[in-house]
Amino acid sequence: MTALDPPHDAPLLVVDALTKSYRLPGGGSLTAADRVSFTVPRGGSVGIVGESGSGKSTVARMLVGLVPPDAGTVTVNGRDRASRPSALSRHRPAARLERAREIQMVFQDPYVSLDPRLTARQCLRTALRLHGHPSTDARTQSLLDQVGLGTREAGARPHQLSGGQRQRLAIARALAVDPQILVLDEAVAALDVSIQAQIFQLLGEIRDETGVALVFVSHDLAVVQHITDETVVMQRGSVVEQGPTERVLGMPQHPYTRLLLASAPHEGWDPADAIRARAAADSAQPVV
Ligand code: ADP
Ligand code: MG
Repeated sequence: MTALDPPHDAPLLVVDALTKSYRLPGGGSLTAADRVSFTVPRGGSVGIVGESGSGKSTVARMLVGLVPPDAGTVTVNGRDRASRPSALSRHRPAARLERAREIQMVFQDPYVSLDPRLTARQCLRTALRLHGHPSTDARTQSLLDQVGLGTREAGARPHQLSGGQRQRLAIARALAVDPQILVLDEAVAALDVSIQAQIFQLLGEIRDETGVALVFVSHDLAVVQHITDETVVMQRGSVVEQGPTERVLGMPQHPYTRLLLASAPHEGWDPADAIRARAAADSAQPVV
């Protein structure tokens, strides 16, 4: 054990008081994330839920370093990610790989992030090479196998794949560097429910096999309910409730969490319940 090794019991990811405001065009500012804090254990699975505009993507982007926080810290294995900014590590492949190995992100629409000219196999080879991995065919093949893409899909370009297959490819590319944490921002939102279920199953298998931790960002409670151990509920940039998913979504304490549950159509659903729940949520204080 060296001085750089984390204490054995340190959480994998500690998010502490992350805050981000955006300047509004007409003057003033909007606090998209207000002192957001949570932890993710090794191999854990945490969901961030909230309606559109509640600040989920802002938090996800701060985790991976795409958005610089105004305040707060993101600590992985006891080390502050901000102390190794990606701009500095660009010229040091080893540092970049180390950083990439901490957290990888999968977005809602892989069309935007996948190069249309590359086949699935080429895409994975490129990712492996970019991160300094020896670009072995064996590693590419094992990634394809891991996400359930066959020979035909391996030779196909993004437009020749279905939405579910494209998302499998995006997941495989994120896994190419053996990350410790995978952040998925609305990663199944554009997929049919049956395809969503396949992706959940896949993510569960990958988590079991590799021990990767998942941070699952979604406006859809059903999604988070299926795949996470812990849930963080965000309303207008603030965390209003957090804890074990079973308790938060099974016995919600905060009116906003109740609103989210009441708004999701289910058996015997009455839209009037959702309208009443909104009135209660709008005037409530956090319970955390
Ligand atoms: P969510 O992912 O929960 O839908 P976001 O984090 O995308 O929420 O957005 C939170 C709030 O911050 C929204 O009001 C959104 O309009 C605003 N916002 C997000 N990104 C920017 C930006 N780059 N510039 C200005 N405002 C932004
Ligand atoms: Mg979002």
